[in-house]
Amino acid sequence: MTDIQAAPAAAPAEADVQPAIELRGISKSFGPVQANKDISIRVMPGTIHGIIGENGAGKSTLMSILYGFYKADAGEIFVAGKRTEIPDSQAAIAAGIGMVFQHFKLVQNFTVLENVVLGAEDGQMLKPSLAKARKSLTRLAEEYELNVDPDALIEHLSVGHQQRVEILKALYREADILILDEPTGVLTPAEADHLFRILDNLRREGKTIIFITHKLREIMEITDTVSVMRRGQMTATVKTAETSPEELAELMVGRKVLLRVDKEKAAPKQKVLEVENLRVVDDKGVERLRGVSLEVRAGEILGIAGVAGNGQSELLAVLGGIMEGEGHVRVNGAELPLSGRHADGQSRRRRGIGHVPEDRQHEGLIMEFQAWENVAFGYHHDPRYQLNPLLMNNAAIREDTAGKMERFDVRPPDPGLHARNFSGGNQQKIVVAREIERNPDVLLVGQPTRGVDIGAIEFIHQQIIRLRDEGKAVLLVSVELDEIFSLSDRIAVMFDGRIMGERLPEETDERELGLLMAGISEEPDQPEWQAVDEQLDRKEAQAAGSDPAGGE
Ligand code: ADP
Ligand code: MG
Repeated sequence: MTDIQAAPAAAPAEADVQPAIELRGISKSFGPVQANKDISIRVMPGTIHGIIGENGAGKSTLMSILYGFYKADAGEIFVAGKRTEIPDSQAAIAAGIGMVFQHFKLVQNFTVLENVVLGAEDGQMLKPSLAKARKSLTRLAEEYELNVDPDALIEHLSVGHQQRVEILKALYREADILILDEPTGVLTPAEADHLFRILDNLRREGKTIIFITHKLREIMEITDTVSVMRRGQMTATVKTAETSPEELAELMVGRKVLLRVDKEKAAPKQKVLEVENLRVVDDKGVERLRGVSLEVRAGEILGIAGVAGNGQSELLAVLGGIMEGEGHVRVNGAELPLSGRHADGQSRRRRGIGHVPEDRQHEGLIMEFQAWENVAFGYHHDPRYQLNPLLMNNAAIREDTAGKMERFDVRPPDPGLHARNFSGGNQQKIVVAREIERNPDVLLVGQPTRGVDIGAIEFIHQQIIRLRDEGKAVLLVSVELDEIFSLSDRIAVMFDGRIMGERLPEETDERELGLLMAGISEEPDQPEWQAVDEQLDRKEAQAAGSDPAGGE
């Protein structure tokens, strides 16, 4: 993706250099959950130190302790060799530690400049602070390629630019150590590339970066050293150059994991799902789908790539009967109603559409219900689930659920457990089992592995491929390009409510898809992150000049 080289090894022997940060024996519990267990780690100055681990491994907790958000139950923090108490974020900032949050904490209707200065004003005087900040912002922008318009309102900025403001904010407070918690989750590949360049520049200037992610590729690409967390423990710290994605995956999960999905070439047959000129206007009057057409054949997976918020969710919602739309949708040649009484999820299921919704917590499951009730959810008209037209056969549903749980390796395999008491990965397995075992002609799948651990990802991917191989049509929506590449037989990219283009996975790459995801269909002459930047700048300028109601 990028050609960033690891920084040259620091000149002095490593033993002579104090770690920028050292944590010793950090433990932290939330009630019965021990999020961090006796964690020790040394982060060397001028390096990018990755921390990788599955969801819930305890990464954010550890960083929140370092940034003074949580108080550790035990353990010590050393900054540049000196034992340091960090009871709050003020103390962290004073110790030279800055944090870029997963969910930005910027004031939306303030300008970039105001946000940078906020909380770091010189005394009570705002004006001199602003003037000083403007200068310093210009310098930082030049030094690190961190350019953003100081006078733009945050609400008009793209997510990538908002993230830069967070970084600027930390640098303005003279942070030497920057913590980034899953910073690429919200970025396009080109934006992520640009972020990596910024991080590389920061490293060159001697800053220390702690980079948290659950993506192996990013660790391999940008870090010098990587620490792996599993279930609250630090399982290993290794030099990135001396490890491999396979080894890291094994350290994360605790067993060998197939990183590539094994699949045969698709053998697509007749058209099963046909979508023509689909339009959707949301309840705020914003057009979310602007004439989408596509088709999926029996025995193939069409993957929809795109940055979240470009209409993919609405596409699935309309097809799954959760939202109304206009246009034409046919399944096996028969037209489906897109509005009215017969456009609900129930009717869709009867027409052979299975749906693994993007948001399993709200649309896929009822958290307060038990697993077996959730398995009947949407399928209670199944004769096998009924004793007679008035009474459900609960015993039969429980038994069916137990079978699904066994086949889909749901842990614990207890049909009586409430949905909310399963981990994210196991909740998802319940939804996938329910939808796949109905043997739908069309399977709609949204973000099938969001928040799911690598072990379960492997399993869910295998199930989706199996369904394809049984001759079903699969429409996959995912913001994870890796997932799109490993599952799709064809890839369509959505941008701004439209399909920007369609490619075969073997004939395209992340770069090209990344451009389409940013709404650029031609190869630009300049580096892609510059092209994307310019385009974002144009969009932001437009947004600033008009009513932003149409924006995200
Ligand atoms: P990661 O960032 O690696 O995904 P977290 O540090 O967010 O993991 O979470 C580790 C564990 O601690 C999880 O089981 C999570 O549910 C739990 N946890 C985190 N924060 C809290 C909190 N404020 N209250 C209760 N439990 C929490
Ligand atoms: Mg986290």
